[in-house]
Amino acid sequence: MSKMDGMEKLNKKMLACKKCALRENCKQVVPGAGSATAKIMFIGEAPGKKEDELGVPFVGAAGKFLDEMLGAIKLKREDVYIANTVKCRPLANRDPSPEEKYICWKWLEEQIRIIQPKVIVTLGRHSMNLFLPEQKISEMHGKALKKEIPNLGKQVILALYHPAAALYNGGMRETLIKDFKKIPKVLKKL
Ligand code: URA
Repeated sequence: MSKMDGMEKLNKKMLACKKCALRENCKQVVPGAGSATAKIMFIGEAPGKKEDELGVPFVGAAGKFLDEMLGAIKLKREDVYIANTVKCRPLANRDPSPEEKYICWKWLEEQIRIIQPKVIVTLGRHSMNLFLPEQKISEMHGKALKKEIPNLGKQVILALYHPAAALYNGGMRETLIKDFKKIPKVLKKL
């Protein structure tokens, strides 16, 4: 089966998911968006209000910032894949709980297995902690490392600050923009 067909099949399953209570309070599932054959996979935290309305990840203010940073490294969102740690919006944008992330990890695992990205770029600590549970984002941001992930084999992880956190914080914003520009260098070295 092609990656595209695999992703289409998986999307259907995700859209029908009712494995946790998040689905009861959101408008729709936001499975992910972009190319199933992407070399770079971004993983954010959770859909927000706008994402919940449109069914597409990163379409609000943080998404606009993400698009700008992609543009700065000459990429469009169609060139990459964008997903989240949980596929349904937590009420009032609260943090997804460990249990919700654990339940939804199964979907993310399948997405990674289909795409087989060369680099997984985590956006924010929730996403980073799925792969690097012991690490602090303030120490890990901008550093790529290869790690054996159970059921997925060796993956290259690049942890970045979350665009929403960096949006209105001058120092963090500068750091994120600088770290983001490392993505092509990390890819080139592989
Ligand atoms: N923030 C996220 O982490 N994910 C989205 O999809 C939008 C905002």
